[in-house]
Amino acid sequence: MIGGIDSGEHYDVVVAGGGAGGVAAAVGAARAGARTLLVERGPCLGGAGTLRNVVTYCGIYTRAEPHEQVIRGVAEEVLAGLRAEGAVSKPRRYTAVTVVFDPETAKRVLDDVCARAGVEVRLHSTVLDARREDGRVVSAVLADHAGLHEVTAGAFVDASGEADLAVRAGAAVRYGNGGRVQNGSLGVRFGGVPADAEVTRDTLRAAVRAARADGVGPLISDHGLIARMPISGDVIAFVVDEGYDARDARDTSRAEAHARRQARAYLEALRTLPGCGDAYLVGTGPELGTRESRHVEARYRLSGEEVLGAARFPDAVALCGWPVEYHPGPGLPAEWHFIKDDGYYEIPFGAVCSADTANLFAAGRCMDADRVAGGSVRVMGAAFATGHAAGVAAALTADTGTAEAAGVRRELVRQDAHLPGAG
Ligand SMILES: Cc1cc2nc3c(=O)[nH]c(=O)nc-3n(C[C@H](O)[C@H](O)[C@H](O)COP(=O)(O)OP(=O)(O)OC[C@H]3O[C@@H](n4cnc5c(N)ncnc54)[C@H](O)[C@@H]3O)c2cc1C
Repeated sequence: MIGGIDSGEHYDVVVAGGGAGGVAAAVGAARAGARTLLVERGPCLGGAGTLRNVVTYCGIYTRAEPHEQVIRGVAEEVLAGLRAEGAVSKPRRYTAVTVVFDPETAKRVLDDVCARAGVEVRLHSTVLDARREDGRVVSAVLADHAGLHEVTAGAFVDASGEADLAVRAGAAVRYGNGGRVQNGSLGVRFGGVPADAEVTRDTLRAAVRAARADGVGPLISDHGLIARMPISGDVIAFVVDEGYDARDARDTSRAEAHARRQARAYLEALRTLPGCGDAYLVGTGPELGTRESRHVEARYRLSGEEVLGAARFPDAVALCGWPVEYHPGPGLPAEWHFIKDDGYYEIPFGAVCSADTANLFAAGRCMDADRVAGGSVRVMGAAFATGHAAGVAAALTADTGTAEAAGVRRELVRQDAHLPGAG
């Protein structure tokens, strides 16, 4: 015990954050032979998918008809587990193509996927600090109710969404792009809505506008995704917008309290729709959903032109089929821009490699993308794909001290990732 921190455990790879990006990173690293620790501050895996009511996996399919599944690997393993329990819808086109899943089943499926791969999962553990020497992260400090624990590793993946590991280690990060971030939203789940009730983006918008005119509030936005969930038939809505700084607990606390007041007001609006008089709130959040916070400064920054132009890269390690869906601010409609021919784009290796820290990789929404590209690559399908790549790269780095794109691509293909032209 040094200064209240117990130390001693060593892993090949430590992954911070157990959302889609972190799970895929940990599974990819473990399957590549690394002794892997996955650290998650919450009580379950899944990140926004289980902790924030974001129950639609986007980016896995292209928007074109017929839809092409462009993300496989760990994402497909998770989908297969959900399909086996009737807990995921078929791909369906809203503005683009997504699948809706049951978050309770997802929690268990993610546990199983990690267990099968041999990942050590540590829930209720927060990455509090990290140490970097000679351009490499050497250790992370984890906090739980027993105290502080220092773990060392050969390589690290930051999949925390807020890039907590990178910033604590002193690696280069930036907040948003040009100092601006997309707004967040509170995912809200409504029950008591009959199967034949017409609850859509359009009917809810009309109800919200009428409720506002009657003095109901706060109701900031009248846009957002509305979907029916599998199993329960509940309605999930991403309409409660808030602007806040996700790094700052005081600001987030203010926004969460206000978002819960909004959720109650949306319920009032929903109840005015035919058949919906007995609707009720099944759940909010529980956390506000954050679309954007810190990005790790990487060797390559994915650009909006590359996303929209369906870019191909010789060192591609991930694919994504989600268009740009940028949320400019609370109450403002999302800005949609579609990928050339409604196809997919590739993500080059450099976009998940820290620019200044050789054994640090970024997964999910904290990878490097500009304002426009970030409006696409932040979705959970892409997080599975970039996480998978980051985890494999971390395992190779822990093994040999470095990772080259060609080796990462070979291992990803061996692990059933979809990378046209590789392998
Ligand atoms: C309202 C809303 C709607 C959205 N709609 C969709 C959608 O329909 N489909 C879609 O695919 N995407 C959607 N997104 C985007 C998507 O939810 C996120 O961008 C995505 O979850 C990113 O995945 P991730 O793994 O990078 O991060 P997250 O899902 O945010 O996971 C990060 C994890 O890290 C953990 N963590 C954070 N800090 C620490 C720490 N210091 N120590 C340990 N653990 C830590 C968190 O608890 C969390 O579990 C939406 C986002 C929002 C906010």
